[in-house]
Amino acid sequence: MTPPSSLGPLPSRARVVVVGAGYAGLSAALRLHDLGIEVLVLEAADRVGGRVHSEDRGDLVIDHGGQWVGPTQKHLLALAARFDCATFPTWETGEHVEVWRDGSTVGYVGAAPTSGPGIEDYERITDELDELARRVDLEHPWLTPDFEALDAMTAEDWFRSRTSDEDALARLALTIQGVWCTEPREISMLHVLFYVHAAGGYEQLMETGGCAQDSRFVDGAAAPARAVAGLLGDRVRLGTAVTSLEQRDGHVVVHTADGEVTAERVIVTVPPTATGRITFTPPLPAAHQGWRAQAAMGRVAKVHAAYDIPFWRADGHSGVATLYHDRAVGVVFDNSPHDARRGVLVAFVYGDRLDAWAQLDDAARRAAVLDDLARTVGPQALSPTDYTEKIWPADPYAEGGYEAYLRPGGWSAYGRDGWRTPAGSVHFAGSETASVWNGYIDGAISSGERAAEEVAAVL
Ligand SMILES: Cc1cc2nc3c(=O)[nH]c(=O)nc-3n(C[C@H](O)[C@H](O)[C@H](O)COP(=O)(O)OP(=O)(O)OC[C@H]3O[C@@H](n4cnc5c(N)ncnc54)[C@H](O)[C@@H]3O)c2cc1C
Repeated sequence: MTPPSSLGPLPSRARVVVVGAGYAGLSAALRLHDLGIEVLVLEAADRVGGRVHSEDRGDLVIDHGGQWVGPTQKHLLALAARFDCATFPTWETGEHVEVWRDGSTVGYVGAAPTSGPGIEDYERITDELDELARRVDLEHPWLTPDFEALDAMTAEDWFRSRTSDEDALARLALTIQGVWCTEPREISMLHVLFYVHAAGGYEQLMETGGCAQDSRFVDGAAAPARAVAGLLGDRVRLGTAVTSLEQRDGHVVVHTADGEVTAERVIVTVPPTATGRITFTPPLPAAHQGWRAQAAMGRVAKVHAAYDIPFWRADGHSGVATLYHDRAVGVVFDNSPHDARRGVLVAFVYGDRLDAWAQLDDAARRAAVLDDLARTVGPQALSPTDYTEKIWPADPYAEGGYEAYLRPGGWSAYGRDGWRTPAGSVHFAGSETASVWNGYIDGAISSGERAAEEVAAVL
């Protein structure tokens, strides 16, 4: 992994060029490398990992992007095992907190609250959602019963057709914010169902132990990505943004500011919206363009506040909180390191709340988040020893996170041909193209491996 300035000129040829060194791109390259096929990875940023960004901050590793791994995420676990990257269980012992719309605070113990405003309708509706999700065809979503009708409606339409209880609707809205980083009025109901099924069910998405938030990486979630890049060596080139892909005479000419590379096949792994910054010649087929135009990146910021110790544990608090009011933070977790040598809280700011919070100046943003943390674990939260934010819509290469979701009508108009079908010699990977754990690191890895197999089959 050498920056372009110290690498010398770009090679003029490579059998396969992979665009992007996130988990999809690195996994595609690793699979090709394992098959003995020459590959070159071109990455725009000055680091690998993409939407997984582990930063060393003194004696802490802070994961600004993807961080959790669950026991059914076999692709990520296999990669971590191959490179000896250790994980540890997410901290969650103690009493969790809900902050209600009126500002009142209620504690509960266990995986999820069993009482509280709106809980009955919320449980009834999410059970129905889970049942409906099982009918989605994960490989061919367009073959799902009632596909077009479900894709024509938003999650908000569907929720409101089932309850008028504003507290239940607030719980459902926080689900949409917490999982897709958007608002219920913006996302296709079919997409919600597809994604729930791709994760193995609603509980898998929402819970911690045994589910998506089960564990974290001791050295940060980018550790496996860095290990893959280390193995690939100078086949991963940082600081090299691809600007255009030109298919000509059965080859693809890959253009960058540092020169051009001619490849037999190219695998594009950038987020769907970021493909808009790459010029395709000939233009991408209309279905590809349409699918990407109907994809929108979620809006999320991840904010970390560090303390000398996890002080909240002495008071019986887990550090886990859900906040339904209209201030900044939506969800909080205890993100302390595996040995708890320091205390770290991570706060997520989503959707509409992010839009408002991101407009504030630095001091006001910090004050708003710390104030919310103090509501959940007490006034000591107001004085962290370290504070850091990552506002993902401002990231120049990701343009948002955690992932792209489909707006209503996007799947039915463009899914069949535009989702992940190769366009000539250009193949597509990325967590948004996965059928299992879509939107997650695990899905990124399986998508990269799938695209590598497509390429290997034709070379
Ligand atoms: C805040 C946040 C929290 C998340 N939490 C979790 C979690 O806990 N667990 C989980 O499993 N997932 C989580 N995710 C989702 C997960 O991180 C992503 O689904 C996954 O990392 C996407 O990988 P990818 O390779 O498909 O895309 P990316 O990681 O986006 O990789 C694409 C790469 O392409 C590069 N690129 C873009 N344009 C160009 C160009 N023109 N030329 C060259 N390179 C280019 C980018 O810099 C990037 O490195 C989270 C994401 C975010 C943002």
